[in-house]
Amino acid sequence: MREFFSIRIFAGNGVQAGCRCAYAAVRLNDLALKSGYACAPGEDRKATIFTLYRMETKLLPHRPMSPHAPAREQVRILETTDCGICSFRSRLAETGDAPLCSSGISVLQVNTGYRCNLCCSHCHVGASPDRIETMNRETMRHCLGAIAKERGIRTLDITGGAPEMNPELPWFIREARRLMPDGEIIVRTNLVILLSNGRYRRYPELFRAQRATLVASLPCYTRENVDGQRGSGVFHRSIEALKMLNALGYGRAGGGLELHLVYNPGGPFLPGEQQALEEAYREKLREAYGIEFTGLYTITNMPVSRFLESLLDKGGFCNYMTLLADRFNPQAVGNLMCRNTLSVGWDGRLYDCDFNQMLQLPLLSPSPSHIREFDGDRLGRRAVAVGQHCYGCTAGAGSSCQGSLL
Ligand code: SF4
Ligand code: SF4
Repeated sequence: MREFFSIRIFAGNGVQAGCRCAYAAVRLNDLALKSGYACAPGEDRKATIFTLYRMETKLLPHRPMSPHAPAREQVRILETTDCGICSFRSRLAETGDAPLCSSGISVLQVNTGYRCNLCCSHCHVGASPDRIETMNRETMRHCLGAIAKERGIRTLDITGGAPEMNPELPWFIREARRLMPDGEIIVRTNLVILLSNGRYRRYPELFRAQRATLVASLPCYTRENVDGQRGSGVFHRSIEALKMLNALGYGRAGGGLELHLVYNPGGPFLPGEQQALEEAYREKLREAYGIEFTGLYTITNMPVSRFLESLLDKGGFCNYMTLLADRFNPQAVGNLMCRNTLSVGWDGRLYDCDFNQMLQLPLLSPSPSHIREFDGDRLGRRAVAVGQHCYGCTAGAGSSCQGSLL
């Protein structure tokens, strides 16, 4: 309760509230509603919850305040800071991979919005409770139209923010399943949201009924590392959510319901070897909590958005870019996810990947720019818009939303 009161006073004093504060408000509001919140003596419970609710609402229009947040500023920093490394385009030319081109679209990755109940330090989306960008049903219809048109699309990959916070998600998943009865529907979840309140607790059953594959963030198997990156209490709630998914059949061998976990480094270094980490996760989570999962994806932290901000704040930007460039692996280039994926933003704009989306780097001309103009032939042969951030995908064993590339 002390935490709650100090946050309320903090916001009430007119201190500019950032996403951590919004996160805390939402989390505490959620906790208060969920647990029936035991009032302090003399405290009116309804009034207290209402105060929290008002605070959350007030924070909604708030944008991250960092000077690095605007996409064009990020691109300027990435492209013009002299870190003594050659341009990614030249590196591709040296290995004979320029221009980088799509080899056909088999994955449609749809970002349903940037709102999230968490505010993780490594987030390349810059997602938080105070983001308001949300995909509407009309745009989702265009995405379904693209899947119907392009039979080569075998995977619908739904991401965010927290996709569960988009009220149209249940409709979207059901319609997609009707359209692609044998296709793969991936939902990327932060786990914690599945326990947040009644509205979100319905999702696991829906995911099971629609045979969705779940890709769940769990950046480590230790509480210290997870809570350090994602916020206090996140580890234990994630464990609780994983147990609940296991009970539904997710992650169990032979059950047909896939549950993949996602590791990303807790700082400016590359992930360890994916297979070895998966074994370590399996051992630790099984022994300590009896948790099972299908597989582990290791993902490199991209120098984009919040992670870029933290590199700049700590003065580690050039060191990290040099690390990525020094570990450039030409073998990863053939498997880059932009070669088989098309990314759709919350407003229907098209990108080569989720990272380009966050940097607002559109598809290169003359590709269609919006999902309503979907043209599988042209998009499946497009040249990809690359930049210095792409070194994040080609370092070491390579990295993608589906884990390492090699
Ligand atoms: S990393 Fe995922 S869970 Fe964390 S803030 Fe970003 S979208 Fe939300
Ligand atoms: S960031 Fe990665 S996936 Fe995106 S365009 Fe660059 S290499 Fe491709």
